[in-house]
Parts: sequence; structure tokens; C-alpha cells
Amino acid sequence: MKHNKYELLAPAGNFEKLQIALHYGADAVYMGVPELSLRGNMKDMNLDVLKTSIEYVKKQNKKIYVTINIFPHNKDIPLIIENLKFLEEIKPHAIIFSDPAVYKLAKKYAPSIPLHISTQANVTNVESAKFWEDLGIERIILAREVSIEEIKEFRNALNCDLEAFVHGSLCIAYSGKCYLSAYMTNRSANKGECTNSCRWKYSVYYLKEETRDGQFFPVFEDDRGTYVMSSKDLCIIEYLPLLADAGVNSFKIEGRMKGINYLAGVVKTYREAIDLLEKGSFIVKEQWLRELNLFSNRGYTTGMYLGEHPVNGYQHDGKSRNQLDISLGGVVQQVESDGVWILARDKIYPKDSIIFLREGLEEEIYLVKEIRTSNKIMNVLKNGEIAKLILDKEIKNIQPLDIIRKVKTVLK
Ligand code: SF4
Repeated sequence: MKHNKYELLAPAGNFEKLQIALHYGADAVYMGVPELSLRGNMKDMNLDVLKTSIEYVKKQNKKIYVTINIFPHNKDIPLIIENLKFLEEIKPHAIIFSDPAVYKLAKKYAPSIPLHISTQANVTNVESAKFWEDLGIERIILAREVSIEEIKEFRNALNCDLEAFVHGSLCIAYSGKCYLSAYMTNRSANKGECTNSCRWKYSVYYLKEETRDGQFFPVFEDDRGTYVMSSKDLCIIEYLPLLADAGVNSFKIEGRMKGINYLAGVVKTYREAIDLLEKGSFIVKEQWLRELNLFSNRGYTTGMYLGEHPVNGYQHDGKSRNQLDISLGGVVQQVESDGVWILARDKIYPKDSIIFLREGLEEEIYLVKEIRTSNKIMNVLKNGEIAKLILDKEIKNIQPLDIIRKVKTVLK
């Protein structure tokens, strides 16, 4: 069964990120239960925030899925039961789980909530997927390790939704099956505390297994150091139509721990791509690639999806524009005829150049003429402060929750 409507699913590491993800066009968000999801070190997440988030998302007629996707030990079970009972009351649209214990407990303590099987469960074959579908699972979140050709086989054999990651970090291990961080730092990836040990800079020149004399595993260096195991990041935007044709219903962005500048830019970009896909007029915009390259990444890859890249790739719009060197400046709170109130996320000075992250406005550079509150003029606006920016020209189409970026340089 193929679909021509697709879900854009974004990470929501806290309430602000949730608001930003929905504002920039996500159809659904996923959020963790503290201590029981693979982003366990979320300091500003608790069950009250989760409840508020679910209410907020439902008011917008969008969806929210809650993750309980650790591999629990015996000591974790009481907390899982407690949280499942709570979820049964506050009713997210689904629970994302990976361990059969959570499945069993959810059936008992949260029977009205649909279940999605997490990518951490590594569903890599159709028989495994059918096993879960037969148990009533509404969605399979595909293992990152499957190819598009394999996804077609899943689609032909299943009726449930298929969700696939399209953007974000990749592990060098099978997702969720890595002990590197726990071994090296006592911080477990299974508890959402991965220190990304695979991406550290290691001072070695070759790897050698001790019994294999003369056989060296080459270690490549660049001017930033030596990276033994670091994977590139996933970015499949140019090939979204292939995933869509294979039968994926939901396109998922990784990164609950990433900041709002990244989240806004990536969600907005994939929203535009999916909109074109749904209209049947998909063309890769150079602007998308520039936006996705604004954020630090280890180089992009299409992961396991394609094997070799298609020879011709996809048609690009070929429009070149200035590349801006930008950083997060703040978030719009309120718009008035003569200026815009913002919550600053960095220092902003009069004479700074800014842009708004909104379709059609990304290239328009505004000069900050004055910063003021209701009773004083400010020389600088600091992180966490709210004030009004008076700009050098009229602004149109700006809305609360739009991201403001500071322009450091315009790179030709
Ligand atoms: S150390 Fe690397 S491979 Fe292992 S869980 Fe963390 S990010 Fe993934």
C-alpha cells in the first residue's frame, strides 16, 4: 500500500523545542519519559511538562508519541509501570517501545494507547515486523540498517505504518546495541547518556588485532584530528521520493538534544521538501542543502538506504544564493507595527544584522536600529532577556515563535 500523504516527525527534547518543531511544520513530535527513554539526561523534562505538551499538541490537531525505549533492568520495572499508568491518563497518540517487557506492561497498564516499535528494537526483516504487527503494533520504526529495496519488501508484506529516519546522527553500531560509552565513561547509551565516544579524537595511527601480524586497520586523519569510528550524519532529503515510493509513511528527524536553531532549520527544510513531494513536484532546492549545511555535521551520508547513489541523482533547482554565516539570536515573542519583541538567546547589539527564519525571508537582512523595553533604551540585549527590536525596514509575515538569526558574515 503506498501513500501520498506523509508525516514529518520531529524530536522534542523539551517544551520549547516542541513548540518550535510544530511551528515550523512538523506533523508530529516525539518526546521522552525522563529516565526511560534514550535521551534520559533531559534536565528540563518531567511528567508535568509531558502533560502540558500533550495538551498543547492536541489543541493543534497534531500528534505526539512518547518514548519508553530503554532496555530495562529489573529495577526499572516499577518506574515503567508508574509512567504507563500516567500515560494512560494523559493519552499521547502512541508509546514508542523497544523491549517486550514494555509491550507487555503497556498492554496491561496503558491499554488504550497505540504502540510503535522503536528503531532500537532493530526490526531488520519482514518476519520480525510481522511478529510485531500480529501483536497489534500500529507502526514499525525501521532499523536504520535497512535499505530502500528492503523497505519495499516490508511494505508489500505489512499493513501497519512504516517510519524511517531521514536526518540526523548515526551510530557506528546497530542502533541501541552499543556499550562503548558505558565502557569508557560509565554513561550508558541505553539510558540516553551516550557521550558519543565513537566520535572522540583518538591518538592512534593504526589499529591492529594482536594475533594478526602485519595487518593494520587504516586510521584516517584530517586537520582536526583522528577519527576511528565516527559515522557521518544521515541526510536523505535529495532522495525522499525513493523512500516515499518504497512505502514509508513517516519521515523522522533525529536530535532531541540538539538546539532550536538546528531544529527549526531542519524541520522547515524537510517540510518544504515533503510539501513538494505531496504535490508531485519534487525538485531539490539548493537552499535546502545550504540550510542543512549550516549546522555542524560530520559530513552527510545516505546511510544504508541506497547502497550506491543513483547515477543521475535528483534534479536540483540550481539557484545559487549568498551563503550566510549565522548563529541563533532569539525567538520572536510578539510583533508590533514598529518592531518585534524577542526573547534573546545570544547577545544582540544595535547595528547587528539579523534575518528571520521564515519562507521567503531567509535572505532578507535587517539592521537592528534600536533595542528598547517599555521604559528604557538598551545598549545590549543579553541571553534570556526580552526586549523590542526596532529595525531598519518594515517586516512582513513575521509570527511569534519565528527564529531570529544573527548574521556574522555574508559568504559569497
Ligand atoms: S558511542 Fe557512538 S555508536 Fe555507540 S551509542 Fe554512542 S553514538 Fe552510537
